[in-house]
Amino acid sequence: MKSLIILFADNFSSFGFENSFDGKSAFDKTLEWAKNVKTASEIEVYCFEDNKELVQKHLEKGISVKAKGSWTNEILFSEMAASLKKSNCEYVIFSFAFNPFINQTLTTNLIDTHEKFKSEYSFADGYPVSVSPELLDRGLVNILSELIKTKDDLKQQAVTKSSVFDLIKTDINSFEIETEISTTDWRLYRFDFSCDKKENYIACVNLYEKIKKLCDEDRADIQKICGAARDDVKVLKTIPGYFNIQIEIEYQSKNPYCPYYKFSGPEEKMSFEKFKGLLEKINELNPDSVVSLSLWGDPVLHPQFFDFVKEVIKYPGLTCLIETDGFKFSENDISSDNSDIIINLKALSECVQNAGLRKNGFAPVLWLINVDAMTQQTYEKLHPQMKLEYAVNTVKVLNSLFNGNVYAQYLRITENEGELEAFYRAYKEKDYISGGKFIIQKYDHFCKVMPEVKSADLSPIERNPCWHLRRDFNILADGKVPVCRDKSFENPCGNAFEEDLSAIFDRNNTILQTHIDKKLCEGCLSCDEYYTYNF
Ligand code: SF4
Repeated sequence: MKSLIILFADNFSSFGFENSFDGKSAFDKTLEWAKNVKTASEIEVYCFEDNKELVQKHLEKGISVKAKGSWTNEILFSEMAASLKKSNCEYVIFSFAFNPFINQTLTTNLIDTHEKFKSEYSFADGYPVSVSPELLDRGLVNILSELIKTKDDLKQQAVTKSSVFDLIKTDINSFEIETEISTTDWRLYRFDFSCDKKENYIACVNLYEKIKKLCDEDRADIQKICGAARDDVKVLKTIPGYFNIQIEIEYQSKNPYCPYYKFSGPEEKMSFEKFKGLLEKINELNPDSVVSLSLWGDPVLHPQFFDFVKEVIKYPGLTCLIETDGFKFSENDISSDNSDIIINLKALSECVQNAGLRKNGFAPVLWLINVDAMTQQTYEKLHPQMKLEYAVNTVKVLNSLFNGNVYAQYLRITENEGELEAFYRAYKEKDYISGGKFIIQKYDHFCKVMPEVKSADLSPIERNPCWHLRRDFNILADGKVPVCRDKSFENPCGNAFEEDLSAIFDRNNTILQTHIDKKLCEGCLSCDEYYTYNF
């Protein structure tokens, strides 16, 4: 059977065109793979007007290019159907275009399974992102090009690596699906071996250097490559992707399950001027990061809160995350368009609309509101002397202004377990106040400093190297950088106002090595946050 290979060259950055792999780029390596696919009859590259020139520079004759100003999911499936119609191929082999480790053996196995079982959709499961393509039968492509038109929440979204599966799973039982399952489940490591974002590009370059030491046979074995990645600090940890910053020192109420008051933290809020300097450094280190203003303290209490948020989203790649107990709207505030909070929120909403899409896949501003209960009685156990009504109203008002980017959050503990199901049933509904967006947050006992009130243990059977060490960068209001949030008030590993951020981040490499070697310090041993993940 003949296949049409479609490579999607996202316009993320130019890292995919850097000649970092023995003089070849990730794009060259992906093309090399495409040409060697045993059923490949035609190859087509989908790209953007912005990167068309770069794409064409790397192409040989015979490979066609389809460039657009933007690619939504609807456009993708419609173009895929059109490309397939023009070709004499039975199925599409689809992949993003900057994947230096896309694996030929895995592809061959997928092709064999796809053809043998007459599958409509075949994919590799349990492997890192970007090491295998997806296979879509001709009939399926035609169905998807129609199905996407009916999916209001997906059709206008920009194409992502999960676009195909996101659409298929909306009607998963209707399709004949085959998978190639990995003998080891690599998903826990959240590897993405593509050269799109800076953090993934560095990991790919470091991994490529590492596997040069392997023999030819092992270099072709995707399990051996993943094994090499798992054991290497320089692949697991490149640059931070999540900056968690304390701008405020107070909370609206004293939550008995928050460790903040047990420690003596900074005594002053972060100044806006210091924050601006910090953002410049963050943007230089990772221009696609998520910047949270909520490491400690409730950021909305900072008198210049709105300036902080606007400053983050001035940078075209940064996303601002705000976690709060909510704004204290009075009834007048909500009904009157002239309250200060409403005026500021409306102005911020306008800034967000003008800020443009982020290439990190998130909106410019994300809100997490701590709702934590369904009744006032339970709410007060977590937020003494506060009104649940304020939190709920905050969700409502914010969602009317930042639609789709407001999450009602529920810290799951024994105290509120009885209301969890009611919360889930209400907040999962698309027509409820957060538009179906909610987060059930795991309780953190902070290395057993706080009481153990976790109502369910979701930790994996085998411990993985701590995700927070790999990607998080925490900054207290005085610039001090703790090893992680759980070690916020232990000796810092640097000061972000005074030092180079990358040098500070690298100081934790030795701790990550202890995680790889499974020789953890007492603090990490008693911590169960290692498997939780922030962006
Ligand atoms: S395991 Fe816990 S204490 Fe150790 S680095 Fe990770 S989050 Fe911090």
